[in-house]
This record gives sequence, structure tokens and C-alpha cells, in this order.
Amino acid sequence: MSSAAPKNDEYGAARPATEATTVALAEGDGIGPEITRAVVKILEAAGAAVKFDPITVGEACYLDGVSSGIPESAWDAIRTHRVLLKGPITTPQGGGYKSLNVTLRKSLGLFANIRPCRSLDPVVPSRHPDMDVLIVRENEEDTYAGIEHRQTREVTQCLKLISRPACERISRYAFELARSQGRRKITCMSKDNIMKLTDGLFHRVFKEVAAEYPDIEAEHCIIDIGTALLADQPDRFDVILAPNLYGDILSDVAAQITGSVGLGGSANIGEGCAMFEAVHGSAPDIAGKDIANPSGMLLAACEMLRYLGDADTAATIQDAWMVTLEEGVHTGDLYKEGHSRERVGTQAFGDRIIENL
Ligand code: NAD
Repeated sequence: MSSAAPKNDEYGAARPATEATTVALAEGDGIGPEITRAVVKILEAAGAAVKFDPITVGEACYLDGVSSGIPESAWDAIRTHRVLLKGPITTPQGGGYKSLNVTLRKSLGLFANIRPCRSLDPVVPSRHPDMDVLIVRENEEDTYAGIEHRQTREVTQCLKLISRPACERISRYAFELARSQGRRKITCMSKDNIMKLTDGLFHRVFKEVAAEYPDIEAEHCIIDIGTALLADQPDRFDVILAPNLYGDILSDVAAQITGSVGLGGSANIGEGCAMFEAVHGSAPDIAGKDIANPSGMLLAACEMLRYLGDADTAATIQDAWMVTLEEGVHTGDLYKEGHSRERVGTQAFGDRIIENL
């Protein structure tokens, strides 16, 4: 993959937006196609400096015999454009094919998963109006490394892989990101009282890297009490750094506290390659009903525009999105009698954002 990665200041390198960049677009499945349609329409209406190259991954490809769910043509597009905007993709539970999301993150070396979770109170009422947490999740190792096998008919094993280079890279990335965003504190969460070697290494390397950043407070929390405190007093946290599995769980908890898991966007960042997606999954329970909240994918798309150097359009879109929410125009997950003015579907919500651009 080329090292001439498009990145903006916050992500590590500078690249002004000069012309439209082509990015690969996977609409996903479940609610993926409907939220993707709304998001693409908003980006196009806003004049974002981006063109889309649609790729097909997932279900249809498995049926065609592509066991990874990602055909060569899709890999080619992702490798050429080096940026992917992706809708959620269903992964079968307890069997079946491997998670395509994990395959993408690992194959593309997307080592950092960045998930901002900020209260929108009073626009979206929250018990925690001051919450503004940035979750930085290690994205390639831990129990998600995919080293899982059957030992006997009755015993199965999943290996937890934690390496010093990955710990160093994600810790340093978290401190650099905290600095670039003017954040003051990083809380590392692990379970090193039990997993002394693996989580112990994650915590130890965090402390070593923290010593290089005296301007940022560094603390550690055991993951169980850390999660409880996040649910109860989220405003005490600024940046949270966690290994893969804990980071995945923490970010759903944090997104839900802000009002809905449908509000969470995320960036998966690697060397010269990045993927942007919502925090939530494919929501099969509401798929095809035009009621899903497209906000998570929209905020992820705004992060993508910033990564590509088009921060102005990202800000314009986020402002229009906020105005729409302030007008009380809400999808079902946010709608509250007496607070919201109008309950709208996915496409109507997108259209109202476009009217507010
Ligand atoms: P989910 O996030 O899809 O849904 C959880 C709950 O939140 C559901 O009630 C759903 O209706 C609701 N919800 C989710 N997104 C919403 C939105 N945008 N607007 C309104 N409500 C929304 O989690 P799940 O049901 O555990 O997972 C479903 C599938 O998604 C699984 O196969 C899982 O593996 C997959 N998944 C994919 C990704 C990804 O593609 N990155 C991430 C997480 C889960």
C-alpha cells in the first residue's frame, strides 16, 4: 500500500484538500444500505470533495463462494483508494463465517479505532450533560486476533495476543491524539490484576509511553470498575485507552449513554489506510423499515472528510445535523414525547439535514 496517505493534522500528517478524492464505499447489510443512502446524499449535497467507488462485500460474496466475504475486486478498490466508508455488516453468532469487519481491520493494518462519544444535551437530553469521552481502542490484537480452536470435543480455546509493538503504537497514538485535541487525561483500562502477562504488558507499556507526555495526566483503572464508572460518571473521563475487546464494549456503553448507539461514529486508522464506520451493527431488528438513525455513519463520514483534509465541509455537515436535531426532528431512537417535535425516518432525517446545509 502506498505510504502517500491522505491525512490531516489531527491524524498525523498534513494534506490539504485540493481535489475530490475517490474512496471505496461498502453499504453493508441490515440497515447498512438505508443509512448509507442517506449519508451519501448529504455528502453530495454538501459538495464534499469526495467521489465514491461502490464495492460489494459480505453476504452476496459468500454466496458466490468468496470465503472472506471480500472479493479481489473489492480489495483492489480499497488498496487503490486507501480510504473506505463502510456500512455495518452482519456476522453470524457462535459459528459461520469469520467477521469481515475484523478481517478488514487486520488485513489493512488499521491499528487504532477512534470512537468519540459526546453528550448532545440539551438537544438530546442526557443525565450526563458534560460527557465528552474519546475512546481509543487497540484494533488488531487481543482475543480478536482470531486465534481460536477446539482442543477436545468439550474444550475450546481463544488466545489473547498482546504484543509490545502494538501496545507502544496505540499508546503513543492515544497521547498524540489527546495532545492534538487539547485533551488533558488518558485513562488506560485493563484487567491486569487477573491477566498479569497480557493486560499487564498493555498497562506497563502505557505507563512507559505516558512518561514521554508529562503534559497529559495518565491513570489506570481496572476494566470492571472502569466500565461501571463510565456508565455512572462518564464526565470524569477524557480519553480512554483499552485493548480491543474492552474498547469494543466500552464504546457501545458510551455511545448509548449519549442517547443512542445510533449516534456513534468511528475511525479505523492505519499506516496509509483508513476505514470509517458507525459504532453500531447492522440492526437486523429494524432493517428495511427506514427508521434507523444515520447519525453514526454520518459522523464517521465527517471524520473521513477531516482525514481527507476537507474539514470545512465536515463542519458544515455537522452544523446542519445539529440544527436538525435542535429543531426536534428526530429518528425513533431519539424521539421523546414532549421534547421532540417530529418523528422522522432515515431518508427524511437526511433530507432535513440537507435543507439545513
Ligand atoms: P446492533 O448495534 O446492530 O443493534 C443493537 C440495538 O441497537 C438494536 O436494537 C438496534 O435496532 C439498535 N440500533 C443499532 N443501530 C441503530 C441505528 N442506527 N438507529 C437506531 N437503532 C439502532 O447490535 P447487534 O444486534 O448486537 O448486532 C447485529 C449485527 O451487527 C451482528 O451480526 C454483529 O456482528 C454486527 N455488528 C457489525 C458491526 C460492524 O459492521 N462494524 C459492529 C457491531 C456489530
